[in-house]
This record gives sequence, structure tokens and C-alpha cells, in this order.
Amino acid sequence: MRLQGKIALVTGSSRGIGRNIAVRFAREGADVAITYHKSKEGAEEALAEVEATGRRGHLFAVDVASVQSVQRLVQDVVQHFGRLDVLVNNAGMEKRAPFWEVTEEDYDHVLNTNLKAVFFGSQAMVRHLRETKRPGKIINISSVHEDLPFPNFAAYCASKGGLRMLTRTLAVELRGTGITVNAIAPGAIETEINADLLKDRDKLDALLRQIPLGRLGQPDDVSGVAVFLASADADYVTGSTYFVDGGLTWDYDEQ
Ligand code: BGC
Repeated sequence: MRLQGKIALVTGSSRGIGRNIAVRFAREGADVAITYHKSKEGAEEALAEVEATGRRGHLFAVDVASVQSVQRLVQDVVQHFGRLDVLVNNAGMEKRAPFWEVTEEDYDHVLNTNLKAVFFGSQAMVRHLRETKRPGKIINISSVHEDLPFPNFAAYCASKGGLRMLTRTLAVELRGTGITVNAIAPGAIETEINADLLKDRDKLDALLRQIPLGRLGQPDDVSGVAVFLASADADYVTGSTYFVDGGLTWDYDEQ
């Protein structure tokens, strides 16, 4: 067990990658705060899976796009579990639209969820750790699109590029605190965020041809790296982004 006795908060853990991380953390010995926005049913299933491991779990309903809610979330988790050791900023969303049609509302929704929430959630976590004089780990779930352009997803790319620099900057600024900040950049993972792609055979085949490992990723592929980053094995790792993409990022193939 690599996370024995740790308290972890995983945002957006009612489904997809976040849910997988929450359950995997529990299997590794952590108690887990699960958050959901709309999918209460998924969150309840995640909670049942966490409790089936013998660890404690608790549900928190929150829209991380609101800064106040995210600050309150960290306070509520600390109050419920007594402290917080690991924060996984996982909640995220994307919306497809040509750049010239993106509305301010959609831009705000994407940036508030994917970047602002991480900024202020991490700030609340850091304040808690500084007050209690303890080390901790922050893991940001970014995307290959923190580096790789993604046409029709300009706001998403802007948010993930911001996450990359937030990760690096906090790693340096938090010098001397024992708090590490790292990111995971998943590629094409088989979750609901890719529902449209999964239904389109031609697009899916074209994408698969660009993945050297020849398959979509599974949430388990991501959560294995998250466990590593949350564990003592990663005590000397900070400011890094780990790509979990089957090689997609580097597959430039000009024929
Ligand atoms: C996006 C997916 C996309 C994948 C690879 C992810 O960040 O959420 O929609 O398929 O990157 O391009």
C-alpha cells in the first residue's frame, strides 16, 4: 500500500479519470473525498467502490467553476477528515467550437473549471498545509494539449497551457514547504469526455493511427501515474508533467 493513511481530495471524481483515481487511491490505503457536480449517481457508485476497499470516503457536491465553492470545499474536506495530504485537481471540461464562434460564456466556463478552480483550490490547500506546517502533494490533471495545439478547442488549450505554467511556477514558489506540484497530461483516454469521438469510427481510426501504442488509453493508465505522484516514491519530483498518451504527442508522421 503506497498511500496508507493519507487523506486525498479528487475533484470531479464521479466519473472518468477522477473516479478511477479516487478508487485506486483507496486501494492504496487513502481516505478519499469525492466531488461531483451533476453526476450524483456516479459519485455514489464511486463512494461504494471506495468503501468496499475498507477506506473512508465522503461525497461533496460542488461546482468548481465558482471560486468560493472551491475554497469552501477544501475547508469542508479538512473539517470532515481532520486534514488533507493530497489534492488531485482533476475536474475539467471541453467544448468544441471554431475559434470565431466561441462565446464569452463558454470561454469563462472552460477557463473557470480547468484553470481558475485549480489556482484557487491549490491556494486553499497550500494555506492549509502552511498553517499546519505539513508537506503535501498537488497533482494537476492537464492534457497533451498543454503542449499540443487542438484546433476547435482554443479555450481548452489556453486552460491547459495555463495549467502547465501554474504547475511549474508553484513548484518553484513553494520552495521549502515540502509541497510538490506535478501534472499528468493524458492523451486520448476512453471516457465520457470523448463520447463523440468514440461514436465516429473514421475519426477514431485516424486517431488510433497516430498513437504508437495502437490503442486508446484507459483511466487505469492515468491513475497508476497519479498513485506514483501521490506516494513517497515521488518525494523528489516537482514541477514535472507526465505524459500518459501512448506516444501520441511525438507521432509526427509525414509521408
Ligand atoms: C481531450 C480529448 C482528446 C485528447 C487527445 C484530451 O485532452 O480531452 O478530447 O481526444 O486530449 O487529443
